[in-house]
Amino acid sequence: MDLSHRTATLHLAEPFTISRETTRDVDVVWVELRSSGHVGYGEAAPDERYDQTAASASAFLDEAGDLLGDDPFALEEISIRLADRPGEMAAKAALDAALHDLCGKLANLAVWRLLGLRRGGPPTSYTVWLGDPDDMARRAQGVDSSFRRLKLKLGGRDGLDVERVRAVRSVTDLPLMVDVNEYWELEEAIENVQALEDLGVEYVEQPLPAGDPGGARLRREAALPIYLDEDCHTLGDLKACAERAHGINIKLAKSGGIREAVKMAAAARSLGLGVMLGCMLESGLGIAAGAQVASLCDHVDLDGNLLLADDPWPGVAFDGGVQLPSVEPGLGVREAVPDPR
Ligand SMILES: [Mg+2]
Repeated sequence: MDLSHRTATLHLAEPFTISRETTRDVDVVWVELRSSGHVGYGEAAPDERYDQTAASASAFLDEAGDLLGDDPFALEEISIRLADRPGEMAAKAALDAALHDLCGKLANLAVWRLLGLRRGGPPTSYTVWLGDPDDMARRAQGVDSSFRRLKLKLGGRDGLDVERVRAVRSVTDLPLMVDVNEYWELEEAIENVQALEDLGVEYVEQPLPAGDPGGARLRREAALPIYLDEDCHTLGDLKACAERAHGINIKLAKSGGIREAVKMAAAARSLGLGVMLGCMLESGLGIAAGAQVASLCDHVDLDGNLLLADDPWPGVAFDGGVQLPSVEPGLGVREAVPDPR
């Protein structure tokens, strides 16, 4: 197989703020794998939280060609060879997506069909990023009416997080969940989660810093289900997550791709954990890979491409609030031809 890659910049429709940072543009890396006259595509969305950049992903991909071999269907063997090189999970996820895209095109099947899965899944949440309570309520009011649930970014470190949710709750009846991105301390978390339960929030994502020793106590005392994101990357993290939470947030950019994500969803069930599927700020190429496995999940947060000014990889259908993968072979997305104007 012939591997090439290039960096691209995605432009957000509006600046996106979470507890850690504000983002206007994001660099991703697009992978192309060629074999037997077909091309498979995948996207790496590197995350600085995990010491990844477009440059580090590209450096990994520069050296990864020899690990792939000639058989795109040898997914397990390829993933074992890739796992020998540490880190760079976003780059690995791009290779995994490109391999699945290629296999689907060679077999003339959509990836979800190739995996034996259903086309569909729970409705995606729409992310209302962090701001003042009034500002978040105003933006929640303006969300496209096809969205059927909202995810609120919290972690303002100003004592106003519960007020943020109260303000949004006063303008919408949509189901709400919140993502704290590691910014609460234990006592604050126990208290806030109780207040959010009273406001009808469904669950709380990553309230404590990854690895925080208070996790087990929060699991016991929390009034709402706790889901872990920054604490949960691959299959090996699940046992510890089960001691600290009620569910996990699987992202392909953390797991290293579709194959590990499917294993994680199965293992989560065996541990009694709920399963959420999340994403980074990604184009439709990254979102298409996630959408293939959405039917395995209880909750879906796949709005990355919907937050962009323009999606350079159309093909995922946003239908009745659900991010539906294409019926076309592979991941079913094609790069948009740039507007010559
Ligand atoms: Mg999160």
